Order: sequence, then C-alpha cells, then structure tokens
Amino acid sequence: MTKKVSNRFILKELANLNKLVLLDLDDTVVEASDIYIYRQFPGEEEVALTPAEYRNEKVTDDTKQYYDYRDFEDPGSVSNSIMAGEPIVANLNVMDEFINRGYKIGILTARGHEETVYETLREWLMYRDKQGRLVPIGDKLDRNLVYAINDSVTASRLTAIADFDKKAEIINELLDVYDEIIFLDDDIKNLKAVKRLKSTLESNKANKLFVMKAKI
Ligand SMILES: [Mg+2]
Repeated sequence: MTKKVSNRFILKELANLNKLVLLDLDDTVVEASDIYIYRQFPGEEEVALTPAEYRNEKVTDDTKQYYDYRDFEDPGSVSNSIMAGEPIVANLNVMDEFINRGYKIGILTARGHEETVYETLREWLMYRDKQGRLVPIGDKLDRNLVYAINDSVTASRLTAIADFDKKAEIINELLDVYDEIIFLDDDIKNLKAVKRLKSTLESNKANKLFVMKAKI
C-alpha cells in the first residue's frame, strides 16, 4: 500500500519535472544596472540606451550599423549589470509559483557570455519556496537551461539571424523535450516571434507552448 502511494507520488513528480518556465532576463527578471547599448546616427552625438530603451528602438538592416554593444561584450560589465540590478518582483513571483509547482526554470536572453550569465544568476537569483522563505536559486538553475543566444558558441549552432527568431529556434528545440513550456518575455517582438512559431507547429507540439507577457 505504502509502495503504491509512493509510486504514484513519484509519477506525479516526474510529470511535473517535465515542464519548463523559460524567462527572458533583461526587464523580465532584472532591471540591469549600468549597462548600455550605444547609438550614434551620422552627425549626431552618441546616446547611451538602457536595455528597456533599446527595446523600443526600430533597428533595421539599414540602421544596425549605428548601434554598439560594447558593454555586453565585457564579462565584467555583464556580471555587474546583474549583481547590481533590481529584481523585478512581479515576474519573479510568477517564477516562484511555477517552481513551487515543480516546473524547471530556464533563462532565454539575447545577451552573450552565457557562462557569465549563468554564474552570475546562480549567485544573484533568489526564489520564494513553499514556506515563503527567500532562498538562493542554487541547483534549481540548470546550466543547460541558460541560453544566451548571442554567446559565440550558442549563436554558432543557430540558423536564425534576428534575436527574436533565435529565441523561437531554441524554444522549438525544447518543445521536443518538454511536455509544457511557459515563455515569459517583456519584448513584444520576442512574444510575436514565439506566437508565430506556435502557429506553424503541429497541434500536439503547439499545444505545449504558452506565451506570457512579462509585467513591466
Ligand atoms: Mg527583455
């Protein structure tokens, strides 16, 4: 009798374990500190844009040459921008709820330096457990589920060009592995790309994917 109950318990846990909540980083999990994208149009002064400001830029093939991502190329700035950043509690509450329901968590960011992002988040990210205690994320953050799509290694295996399509490409791969994926992002371009992906998938795969707009 005891065995039967525990088997059922294990099956339930396994079912839960195969679900994933996948979070964007900037302006979803963290409001990054002191990291900028620089824009300099011809004949104009250079302007430093926060990730949130950059989100509203209309970057096209013609204008992308005027943007400089040098802060994002420096692992020290990448790490510091998270360590000194503000956690976005509204979205982290959503993350906590999924973790406490047995979902795995993953990060899907347009940043580079995937290893630095992972190491920094392991140190910085906390979640609220079922008892309401704020505890370090620790092993709940799996290295294999942290994707920085502009990391040189990660980018090299992707076929998509635009960041939003790269995100969709990763999600498409993960849908072959997970029974359910919740994707949370603040950027409408990413949400649209993932909804577009969903609309192209066969229904059994499409039905596993849920897209949520992060609170900002
Ligand atoms: Mg974002």
